[in-house]
Amino acid sequence: MKIWRLTTVKGGAKVKKTLTARISSRVEIAEDLFCLRIDLGENRRQFSFKAGQYLTLGLFDSNGSWVIDSGKRPALRPYSIVSAPDEKNLEIFVELVSRDRGGNLTPLLYGLREGDMLQVLPEAKGIFIFEPEYKNQVMVATVTGIAPFVSIIRDYRKTGGRDAKFFVLHGASYFNEFGYDNELLDLSGKWPEDVLAAYVRTISRPDDPRNANIRKLGISETGRVNGIIEKYLGSWGLEIKDTIIYVCGHPGMIENVKNRLSPNGWMIKEERFWK
Ligand SMILES: Cc1cc2nc3c(=O)[nH]c(=O)nc-3n(C[C@H](O)[C@H](O)[C@H](O)COP(=O)(O)OP(=O)(O)OC[C@H]3O[C@@H](n4cnc5c(N)ncnc54)[C@H](O)[C@@H]3O)c2cc1C
Repeated sequence: MKIWRLTTVKGGAKVKKTLTARISSRVEIAEDLFCLRIDLGENRRQFSFKAGQYLTLGLFDSNGSWVIDSGKRPALRPYSIVSAPDEKNLEIFVELVSRDRGGNLTPLLYGLREGDMLQVLPEAKGIFIFEPEYKNQVMVATVTGIAPFVSIIRDYRKTGGRDAKFFVLHGASYFNEFGYDNELLDLSGKWPEDVLAAYVRTISRPDDPRNANIRKLGISETGRVNGIIEKYLGSWGLEIKDTIIYVCGHPGMIENVKNRLSPNGWMIKEERFWK
Protein backbone atom coordinates (compact mmCIF):
# COMPACT_ATOMS: atom_id res chain seq x y z
CA MET A 1 0.00 0.00 0.00
CA LYS A 2 1.24 3.46 -0.87
CA ILE A 3 2.17 5.75 1.98
CA TRP A 4 2.10 9.57 2.08
CA ARG A 5 1.54 10.64 -1.43
CA LEU A 6 1.63 14.01 -3.08
CA THR A 7 -0.91 14.56 -5.76
CA THR A 8 -1.64 17.46 -8.07
CA VAL A 9 -5.23 18.12 -8.95
CA LYS A 10 -5.70 18.04 -12.68
CA GLY A 11 -6.70 21.44 -14.03
CA GLY A 12 -5.69 23.26 -10.87
CA ALA A 13 -2.60 24.21 -8.96
CA LYS A 14 -3.82 22.78 -5.66
CA VAL A 15 -1.58 20.15 -4.15
CA LYS A 16 -2.91 17.82 -1.49
CA LYS A 17 -1.27 15.16 0.56
CA THR A 18 -3.44 12.08 0.80
CA LEU A 19 -3.43 8.68 2.39
CA THR A 20 -4.40 5.85 0.12
CA ALA A 21 -6.80 3.55 1.90
CA ARG A 22 -8.65 0.34 1.14
CA ILE A 23 -12.25 -0.59 1.86
CA SER A 24 -12.07 -3.53 4.22
CA SER A 25 -15.81 -4.02 4.43
CA ARG A 26 -19.10 -2.58 3.28
CA VAL A 27 -22.34 -3.17 5.13
CA GLU A 28 -25.70 -2.24 3.63
CA ILE A 29 -28.00 -0.82 6.31
CA ALA A 30 -30.93 0.18 4.11
CA GLU A 31 -31.46 0.84 0.43
CA ASP A 32 -29.63 4.18 0.55
CA LEU A 33 -27.54 3.76 3.70
CA PHE A 34 -24.28 1.93 4.08
CA CYS A 35 -21.24 1.65 6.32
CA LEU A 36 -17.71 1.51 5.03
CA ARG A 37 -14.74 0.28 7.01
CA ILE A 38 -11.60 1.97 5.79
CA ASP A 39 -8.21 0.38 6.25
CA LEU A 40 -5.31 2.83 6.19
CA GLY A 41 -2.73 0.08 6.59
CA GLU A 42 0.57 1.40 7.85
CA ASN A 43 -0.73 4.96 7.45
CA ARG A 44 -3.12 4.44 10.34
CA ARG A 45 -0.34 5.28 12.78
CA GLN A 46 -0.09 8.75 11.30
CA PHE A 47 -3.81 9.36 11.38
CA SER A 48 -4.98 10.37 14.83
CA PHE A 49 -8.34 11.78 15.81
CA LYS A 50 -10.58 12.59 18.73
CA ALA A 51 -13.90 10.85 19.13
CA GLY A 52 -16.53 12.94 17.35
CA GLN A 53 -14.24 14.31 14.65
CA TYR A 54 -14.54 13.75 10.92
CA LEU A 55 -12.24 12.55 8.17
CA THR A 56 -12.24 13.92 4.63
CA LEU A 57 -12.18 11.59 1.68
CA GLY A 58 -12.27 11.54 -2.08
CA LEU A 59 -11.55 9.27 -5.01
CA PHE A 60 -9.01 9.15 -7.80
CA ASP A 61 -10.05 8.35 -11.34
CA SER A 62 -8.17 5.86 -13.47
CA ASN A 63 -5.56 8.54 -14.34
CA GLY A 64 -4.80 9.22 -10.71
CA SER A 65 -6.60 12.60 -10.77
CA TRP A 66 -9.24 13.59 -8.27
CA VAL A 67 -12.80 12.80 -9.17
CA ILE A 68 -14.35 16.24 -9.45
CA ASP A 69 -17.81 17.44 -8.51
CA SER A 70 -20.37 19.52 -10.40
CA GLY A 71 -18.46 22.65 -9.37
CA LYS A 72 -15.33 21.24 -11.10
CA ARG A 73 -13.54 20.88 -7.78
CA PRO A 74 -12.20 17.70 -6.23
CA ALA A 75 -15.18 15.92 -4.67
CA LEU A 76 -13.71 15.81 -1.19
CA ARG A 77 -16.33 15.31 1.51
CA PRO A 78 -16.25 15.15 5.31
CA TYR A 79 -17.60 12.08 7.15
CA SER A 80 -17.91 11.72 10.89
CA ILE A 81 -15.88 8.80 12.14
CA VAL A 82 -17.90 6.10 13.89
CA SER A 83 -14.87 4.25 15.24
CA ALA A 84 -13.24 5.02 18.55
CA PRO A 85 -9.74 6.49 18.20
CA ASP A 86 -8.02 3.24 19.20
CA GLU A 87 -9.71 1.12 16.55
CA LYS A 88 -7.63 -0.07 13.64
CA ASN A 89 -10.13 0.68 10.89
CA LEU A 90 -12.02 3.91 10.34
CA GLU A 91 -15.72 3.33 9.97
CA ILE A 92 -18.17 5.74 8.35
CA PHE A 93 -21.97 5.63 8.01
CA VAL A 94 -23.08 7.18 4.72
CA GLU A 95 -26.35 8.21 3.15
CA LEU A 96 -26.52 8.03 -0.63
CA VAL A 97 -27.51 11.39 -2.13
CA SER A 98 -28.54 10.29 -5.59
CA ARG A 99 -27.48 12.17 -8.71
CA ASP A 100 -30.98 13.53 -9.21
CA ARG A 101 -30.81 15.00 -5.68
CA GLY A 102 -27.48 16.63 -6.61
CA GLY A 103 -25.16 14.05 -5.08
CA ASN A 104 -21.61 14.01 -6.39
CA LEU A 105 -19.39 11.72 -4.33
CA THR A 106 -21.92 9.43 -2.64
CA PRO A 107 -23.17 7.79 -5.86
CA LEU A 108 -19.56 6.69 -6.37
CA LEU A 109 -18.99 5.72 -2.72
CA TYR A 110 -22.16 3.67 -2.91
CA GLY A 111 -20.64 1.54 -5.65
CA LEU A 112 -17.41 0.81 -3.77
CA ARG A 113 -16.82 -2.73 -2.58
CA GLU A 114 -14.30 -4.50 -0.37
CA GLY A 115 -10.82 -4.08 -1.79
CA ASP A 116 -11.55 -0.80 -3.60
CA MET A 117 -9.32 2.18 -2.84
CA LEU A 118 -10.08 5.71 -1.74
CA GLN A 119 -8.13 8.77 -0.63
CA VAL A 120 -8.23 10.15 2.89
CA LEU A 121 -6.79 13.53 3.84
CA PRO A 122 -4.21 13.08 6.57
CA GLU A 123 -5.87 15.20 9.26
CA ALA A 124 -9.09 14.58 11.09
CA LYS A 125 -10.92 17.78 11.94
CA GLY A 126 -13.82 19.13 13.92
CA ILE A 127 -14.79 20.44 17.32
CA PHE A 128 -17.86 18.26 17.75
CA ILE A 129 -16.22 16.37 20.57
CA PHE A 130 -17.03 15.31 24.11
CA GLU A 131 -17.49 18.10 26.66
CA PRO A 132 -16.48 16.53 29.97
CA GLU A 133 -17.78 19.25 32.27
CA TYR A 134 -21.42 18.16 31.89
CA LYS A 135 -22.78 15.26 33.91
CA ASN A 136 -25.66 14.66 31.49
CA GLN A 137 -24.77 14.09 27.86
CA VAL A 138 -27.84 14.23 25.63
CA MET A 139 -27.24 13.24 22.00
CA VAL A 140 -29.83 13.92 19.32
CA ALA A 141 -29.35 12.52 15.82
CA THR A 142 -31.08 12.00 12.54
CA VAL A 143 -30.02 8.78 10.77
CA THR A 144 -26.28 9.06 9.94
CA GLY A 145 -25.93 11.80 12.56
CA ILE A 146 -25.50 9.00 15.07
CA ALA A 147 -21.92 8.47 13.81
CA PRO A 148 -19.99 10.86 16.09
CA PHE A 149 -22.08 9.78 19.08
CA VAL A 150 -21.17 6.13 18.65
CA SER A 151 -17.52 7.15 18.52
CA ILE A 152 -17.80 9.29 21.66
CA ILE A 153 -19.65 6.61 23.63
CA ARG A 154 -17.28 3.85 22.55
CA ASP A 155 -14.29 5.98 23.47
CA TYR A 156 -15.72 7.08 26.81
CA ARG A 157 -16.39 3.48 27.83
CA LYS A 158 -13.02 2.21 26.60
CA THR A 159 -11.10 4.88 28.42
CA GLY A 160 -12.86 4.06 31.67
CA GLY A 161 -15.07 7.14 31.91
CA ARG A 162 -17.91 6.64 34.37
CA ASP A 163 -18.92 10.13 35.57
CA ALA A 164 -21.04 11.14 32.60
CA LYS A 165 -24.48 9.75 31.89
CA PHE A 166 -25.50 9.46 28.22
CA PHE A 167 -28.98 9.75 26.72
CA VAL A 168 -29.44 9.21 22.97
CA LEU A 169 -32.45 10.19 20.86
CA HIS A 170 -32.33 8.91 17.28
CA GLY A 171 -34.80 9.82 14.54
CA ALA A 172 -35.40 8.29 11.11
CA SER A 173 -38.15 7.97 8.56
CA TYR A 174 -38.09 4.16 8.43
CA PHE A 175 -37.46 1.38 10.94
CA ASN A 176 -34.38 0.05 9.12
CA GLU A 177 -32.44 3.33 9.01
CA PHE A 178 -30.96 3.12 12.50
CA GLY A 179 -27.41 2.01 11.92
CA TYR A 180 -25.78 0.98 15.22
CA ASP A 181 -29.09 0.52 17.04
CA ASN A 182 -28.16 -3.01 18.13
CA GLU A 183 -24.97 -1.74 19.71
CA LEU A 184 -26.78 1.09 21.49
CA LEU A 185 -29.73 -1.06 22.55
CA ASP A 186 -27.30 -3.51 24.14
CA LEU A 187 -25.88 -0.71 26.28
CA SER A 188 -29.10 1.14 26.92
CA GLY A 189 -30.65 1.21 30.36
CA LYS A 190 -27.55 -0.19 32.03
CA TRP A 191 -26.84 2.96 34.00
CA PRO A 192 -25.24 3.13 36.61
CA GLU A 193 -23.24 -0.03 35.75
CA ASP A 194 -22.59 1.39 32.30
CA VAL A 195 -22.78 4.85 30.72
CA LEU A 196 -25.87 4.78 28.50
CA ALA A 197 -29.00 5.59 30.47
CA ALA A 198 -31.34 5.60 27.48
CA TYR A 199 -31.45 5.03 23.73
CA VAL A 200 -34.73 6.05 22.12
CA ARG A 201 -35.61 5.54 18.46
CA THR A 202 -38.38 7.52 16.82
CA ILE A 203 -40.00 7.08 13.41
CA SER A 204 -41.28 10.13 11.56
CA ARG A 205 -43.48 8.18 9.11
CA PRO A 206 -45.31 5.68 11.31
CA ASP A 207 -48.19 5.28 8.85
CA ASP A 208 -46.02 4.17 5.98
CA PRO A 209 -46.61 0.45 5.28
CA ARG A 210 -42.85 -0.13 5.52
CA ASN A 211 -43.09 0.78 9.20
CA ALA A 212 -45.93 -1.61 9.98
CA ASN A 213 -43.88 -3.62 12.49
CA ILE A 214 -42.29 -0.87 14.54
CA ARG A 215 -43.96 -1.85 17.83
CA LYS A 216 -42.78 -5.43 17.46
CA LEU A 217 -39.28 -4.09 16.89
CA GLY A 218 -39.46 -2.17 20.15
CA ILE A 219 -39.58 1.25 18.50
CA SER A 220 -41.78 3.06 20.97
CA GLU A 221 -41.77 6.61 19.65
CA THR A 222 -43.23 8.23 16.57
CA GLY A 223 -42.74 11.72 15.20
CA ARG A 224 -39.66 13.73 14.44
CA VAL A 225 -36.85 13.57 16.95
CA ASN A 226 -36.93 17.34 17.54
CA GLY A 227 -40.62 17.00 18.49
CA ILE A 228 -40.01 14.60 21.37
CA ILE A 229 -36.95 16.16 22.93
CA GLU A 230 -38.65 18.30 25.61
CA LYS A 231 -40.75 15.35 26.73
CA TYR A 232 -37.64 13.26 27.34
CA LEU A 233 -35.61 16.01 29.00
CA GLY A 234 -38.54 16.27 31.41
CA SER A 235 -39.01 12.55 32.02
CA TRP A 236 -35.29 12.04 32.57
CA GLY A 237 -35.36 14.89 35.08
CA LEU A 238 -32.36 16.68 33.60
CA GLU A 239 -31.32 20.10 34.81
CA ILE A 240 -30.06 22.77 32.46
CA LYS A 241 -26.90 23.47 34.45
CA ASP A 242 -25.73 19.82 34.35
CA THR A 243 -26.65 19.06 30.76
CA ILE A 244 -25.24 19.46 27.27
CA ILE A 245 -27.34 18.64 24.24
CA TYR A 246 -25.42 17.63 21.10
CA VAL A 247 -27.40 17.70 17.85
CA CYS A 248 -26.16 16.14 14.65
CA GLY A 249 -27.40 15.47 11.12
CA HIS A 250 -30.30 17.14 9.33
CA PRO A 251 -29.94 20.95 9.41
CA GLY A 252 -33.69 21.48 9.81
CA MET A 253 -33.75 19.27 12.89
CA ILE A 254 -30.81 21.16 14.37
CA GLU A 255 -32.35 24.56 13.72
CA ASN A 256 -35.62 23.46 15.30
CA VAL A 257 -33.94 22.03 18.41
CA LYS A 258 -31.96 25.24 18.85
CA ASN A 259 -35.03 27.41 18.43
CA ARG A 260 -36.93 25.38 21.00
CA LEU A 261 -34.27 24.95 23.64
CA SER A 262 -31.64 27.69 23.42
CA PRO A 263 -33.99 30.48 24.58
CA ASN A 264 -34.57 28.50 27.79
CA GLY A 265 -30.85 28.31 28.49
CA TRP A 266 -30.00 24.76 27.38
CA MET A 267 -26.41 24.33 26.19
CA ILE A 268 -26.49 23.12 22.57
CA LYS A 269 -23.58 21.90 20.46
CA GLU A 270 -24.24 21.16 16.79
CA GLU A 271 -22.84 19.44 13.71
CA ARG A 272 -24.72 20.06 10.47
CA PHE A 273 -24.14 17.54 7.70
CA TRP A 274 -25.41 19.83 4.98
CA LYS A 275 -26.95 23.30 4.51
C1 LIG B 1 -18.79 17.85 9.43
C2 LIG B 1 -19.58 16.98 8.47
C3 LIG B 1 -19.70 15.62 8.73
C4 LIG B 1 -20.45 14.83 7.86
N1 LIG B 1 -20.60 13.51 8.17
C5 LIG B 1 -21.40 12.74 7.39
C6 LIG B 1 -21.64 11.37 7.72
O1 LIG B 1 -21.16 10.85 8.74
N2 LIG B 1 -22.44 10.64 6.89
C7 LIG B 1 -23.00 11.20 5.76
O2 LIG B 1 -23.71 10.48 5.02
N3 LIG B 1 -22.78 12.48 5.42
C8 LIG B 1 -21.99 13.25 6.20
N4 LIG B 1 -21.75 14.55 5.85
C9 LIG B 1 -22.23 15.02 4.54
C10 LIG B 1 -21.17 14.66 3.45
O3 LIG B 1 -20.01 15.40 3.65
C11 LIG B 1 -21.65 14.91 2.02
O4 LIG B 1 -22.11 16.23 1.90
C12 LIG B 1 -22.76 13.97 1.61
O5 LIG B 1 -22.30 12.62 1.75
C13 LIG B 1 -23.20 14.18 0.17
O6 LIG B 1 -22.07 14.12 -0.65
P1 LIG B 1 -22.23 14.23 -2.24
O7 LIG B 1 -20.90 14.60 -2.80
O8 LIG B 1 -22.88 13.01 -2.79
O9 LIG B 1 -23.25 15.40 -2.44
P2 LIG B 1 -22.86 16.96 -2.26
O10 LIG B 1 -22.25 17.43 -3.53
O11 LIG B 1 -22.05 17.15 -1.02
O12 LIG B 1 -24.25 17.58 -2.01
C14 LIG B 1 -25.27 17.62 -3.01
C15 LIG B 1 -26.51 18.27 -2.40
O13 LIG B 1 -27.09 17.41 -1.41
C16 LIG B 1 -27.18 18.04 -0.14
N5 LIG B 1 -26.95 16.98 0.85
C17 LIG B 1 -25.77 16.54 1.35
N6 LIG B 1 -25.97 15.51 2.20
C18 LIG B 1 -27.30 15.30 2.21
C19 LIG B 1 -28.14 14.37 2.88
N7 LIG B 1 -27.65 13.43 3.71
N8 LIG B 1 -29.47 14.43 2.66
C20 LIG B 1 -30.01 15.35 1.83
N9 LIG B 1 -29.27 16.27 1.16
C21 LIG B 1 -27.94 16.23 1.35
C22 LIG B 1 -26.14 19.15 -0.20
O14 LIG B 1 -26.47 20.20 0.67
C23 LIG B 1 -26.20 19.57 -1.66
O15 LIG B 1 -27.28 20.43 -1.91
C24 LIG B 1 -21.04 15.38 6.70
C25 LIG B 1 -20.89 16.74 6.44
C26 LIG B 1 -20.19 17.53 7.32
C27 LIG B 1 -20.08 19.02 7.02
